[in-house]
Amino acid sequence: MATPQHPATKTCPNCGATVPAGAPMCPECGEPLQTNGTPWYSNLTPTEVFLMILGSIMLAIGLVAV
Ligand SMILES: [Zn+2]
Repeated sequence: MATPQHPATKTCPNCGATVPAGAPMCPECGEPLQTNGTPWYSNLTPTEVFLMILGSIMLAIGLVAV
């Protein structure tokens, strides 16, 4: 009951602007806004996830090979 904020908005941690709760980034400064409960990797495309996994494998192979 004692919530001064509007439920549909949140405050940008970087510039303090009021932004829509569902906004992926701040429209004022471009700061990425993570929603609580949403993993950071949920915004990645399958290609980006694949490249990350591939990069990790390549790094592991490189460490072993050297
Ligand atoms: Zn901002």
